[in-house]
Amino acid sequence: MAVLPINQAEEKIIETVERNPVVVIIGETGSGKSTQLSQILHRKGYTKSGIVAVTQPRRVAAVSVARRVAHELDVPVGEEVGYSIRFEDRTSERTRIKYLTDGVLLRESLSNPELHQYSVIILDEAHERSLNTDILLGLMKRLVKMRSSNLKVLITSATLDGEKVSRFFSNCPILTVPGKLFPVEIVYSRERPTSYIESSLKTALDIHVREPEGDVLIFMTGQDDIEKLVKALEERVQSLEEGSCMDAVILPLHGSLPPEMQVRVFSPSPPNCRRFIVATNIAETSLTVDGVVYVIDSGYVKQRQYNPSSGMYSLDVVQISRVQANQRAGRAGRTCPGKCYRLYPSFVYREEFPEVTVPEIQRSSLAGSVLYLKSLDLPDIDILKFDFLDPPSRESLEDALKQLYLVDAIDENGSITDIGRTMAELPLEPSLSRTLMEANEFGCLSQALTVAAMLSAETTLLPGQSKGTEKKRKHAPSNLPDGSGWGDHIQLLQVFENWDRMDYDPRWCKDNDLQVRGMMFIKDVRKQLSQIMQKIAKGPLDVQANQRWKETQQDYRSLRRALCVGYANQLAERMIHHNGYRTVGYKSQLVQVHPSSVLKTDENGMLPNYVVYHELIATTRPFMRSVCGVEMQWVTHILKKLEKLDIDKLSGGIKPSNERSNREEPLDLQKKDSDAVKAPDDS
Ligand code: ADP
Repeated sequence: MAVLPINQAEEKIIETVERNPVVVIIGETGSGKSTQLSQILHRKGYTKSGIVAVTQPRRVAAVSVARRVAHELDVPVGEEVGYSIRFEDRTSERTRIKYLTDGVLLRESLSNPELHQYSVIILDEAHERSLNTDILLGLMKRLVKMRSSNLKVLITSATLDGEKVSRFFSNCPILTVPGKLFPVEIVYSRERPTSYIESSLKTALDIHVREPEGDVLIFMTGQDDIEKLVKALEERVQSLEEGSCMDAVILPLHGSLPPEMQVRVFSPSPPNCRRFIVATNIAETSLTVDGVVYVIDSGYVKQRQYNPSSGMYSLDVVQISRVQANQRAGRAGRTCPGKCYRLYPSFVYREEFPEVTVPEIQRSSLAGSVLYLKSLDLPDIDILKFDFLDPPSRESLEDALKQLYLVDAIDENGSITDIGRTMAELPLEPSLSRTLMEANEFGCLSQALTVAAMLSAETTLLPGQSKGTEKKRKHAPSNLPDGSGWGDHIQLLQVFENWDRMDYDPRWCKDNDLQVRGMMFIKDVRKQLSQIMQKIAKGPLDVQANQRWKETQQDYRSLRRALCVGYANQLAERMIHHNGYRTVGYKSQLVQVHPSSVLKTDENGMLPNYVVYHELIATTRPFMRSVCGVEMQWVTHILKKLEKLDIDKLSGGIKPSNERSNREEPLDLQKKDSDAVKAPDDS
C-alpha cells in the first residue's frame, strides 16, 4: 500500500497532538485523513485510555471508511474497528476505533455529556460544514474545557478556512499536510451548455476516443441525472464510430446505492479498460476514487434549502462555489497530471460562482437542533449564547422555537418541557417523536412506530428509483393499499401491515415491487424505535410496541389524531371552493397535495378540510408531500396556540450575533506545558 501524505507527517502530528488539546489538520482529499489518522493514534497508544472516534457528515462515508480501516488492520468490521450510524450500530465492547456520523455523536452526548468513552474525537470533513458538525464544534469547545487533561480534539478538513476554526478554538495550532498533487489542466467550455447531461456525455466520449488511459470522474447533481447519463454512456460507448482502443466500464456513485455497488468504485480498473465514474458531489471530498485522470465538472450541485418564513424546502440545482470547483478539479491530479473539463466559461467561475458554499446551518430547519441544545443540561444562559462558527439567522431560530412550541416541546417562555425532553431522546425529527408520544397516549403506538420507521429509514423502497422522487409513488404498483382515502401515512402503515400478515415473506415485497432489503431495514428500524420507546416511556406502554396487526382496527382515527399533534406545525387548510390548500402558521401561501399522494376526495369531489404534511417542497409548484387528513376538532387546539404565540417571550433573549463580545470568555487551550496535557502511555 502506498504511503499517504498523512503518514509522512506522522511524527509532527503526534508531537502537536501531545502538546495541544485541539489541533486543526488541513490536508488534500485523499491524503489519508479519514483512514490513517485514527490508525496513527491507535499505534501511538491513544486507544488505551479510550476509543478514538471519527465523525463523518455522511452515513455512506462512515461505513465505507470503517470498512477500509478494518480491512487495513485485518480485523472484521464491528470488532476493533466499527461504525455507528443512525439505526445501525456495528460496534462492540472491543471497538477501539469508531467511525460515526456527527448526528450519532450528538445523540451520544445526550446520555453522556462528557463523552467519557472517547480519548480522541476527530471531527472529519469539517469543510462540509454540516449542521451537526457545526453544533459539535460548539460543544467540543465546552468539552475540552471540562476534560482538558484527557481529551484530544482533532478537526480535519480538505479546504476549510483553518484560521477561522483555529480562532474559534482560541488560536489552536493548524497543521497543513502537504499533499502530492500533480498539475491539473483546466479546460473551460466557451459557453454554458443547454443540457449538462448531453454535454457531459459528449465530453466523456471525446476523452475515451482521444485521450490516453486514465479513469473519468463525472460530477452530476443527483441520482436521476446519474441514471440517465450511465444509460446513455453505456449505449454510446458500444457504438462509437471512431472507436477506442480501450474497453469501458461505467459505474454510478451516490449515497443511495447499496453498499456492494458502492465498493465497486474502489477496485482498480481491469487492464486496458477505462472506468467512467458518474457521481454526485459525494466524490468531491467524502470518497476518494483512485485512478482518476479526467474530471468533468458540470458546475452544478443539488442543494436543499429551507425557507423559515414559509416552512418550505426547495431542492434546487445551484452553481457550485469556487472552493468546490477546485476540489473537483483536484480529483484529477492524484496519481499523475490530469485534466478537468469545466462545462462553463472561465468568467462564470470567476464572476458568478460564490467563493464558498453556504453552511448547512444557514439553510436548514433548526427545530431538531434547537430542541437538542435545549435538552442538554446546560444552564439556559449558555444556550442563548451558543457559540456557532457561523450563527444562523434570527428568523430561522424563531421559526425553530415556534415549531417546538406548537408541538409542546417548549412552553410559552421557551423552556423545554417534559415532553420536549422525551422527544429529544428519540432519534427522529421532532414531528415524528411527538407523534410517537401522543400515539402512546391514544393506544396506537404500534401503528405510529411503523409509520415513523417507514418515514425515517432513509432507504429506497422501489427498485431503481430514488427515494422521494416524483416518479416514485406515481408508478407504485396499483395493488398496494390505498390508505383508505386518508392519505400517505396510512398507506405506509397498510403496506407494512400487509407484509406483516404475510409473515414478512420476501416474495410479497418482490410481488409488489418493493425492495426486500429496504423493507427488512424498516422492520429493524421499527424494532429499534420500539425498544427506545420501551426505555424512555414514563409509564408502561399502552400498546405493546411489537404487537402485530389487529383485524379489529377501525379507521386509523387515533393514529391520524396523533399525527395531527406531531405535525402541528405542518398543517394546511383547504380553500373554500377548490382543492388547493393554504398553510397555517406561516405566511399564507397556496400549496397543493403532491400528485403522488393517495389522499382521496369525498363524494362531492372535495379533499379533507384540514391535512398535515410531512414535507413542503417547492419543485415546479409548492407541494405537500406525504399528507394525512385530520379533523377540525383536533385542529382547534393548534389554532388557539398560534393565536397566543408571542415570539419575543418564546425566544427569551436568543439573539444570534456575530459579536464575539456576547460570548463566553475565550479559552486558554494552548497549554504549552506538557505536564498539563499528559500524553498517553506509549509503552
Ligand atoms: P482523506 O480523508 O484525506 O480524503 P482517505 O483517508 O479517505 O483520505 O483516503 C486515503 C486513501 O484510501 C485514498 O487513496 C482512498 O482511495 C483510499 N480509500 C479510502 N476509503 C477506501 C475504501 N473504502 N476502499 C478502498 N480504498 C479506500
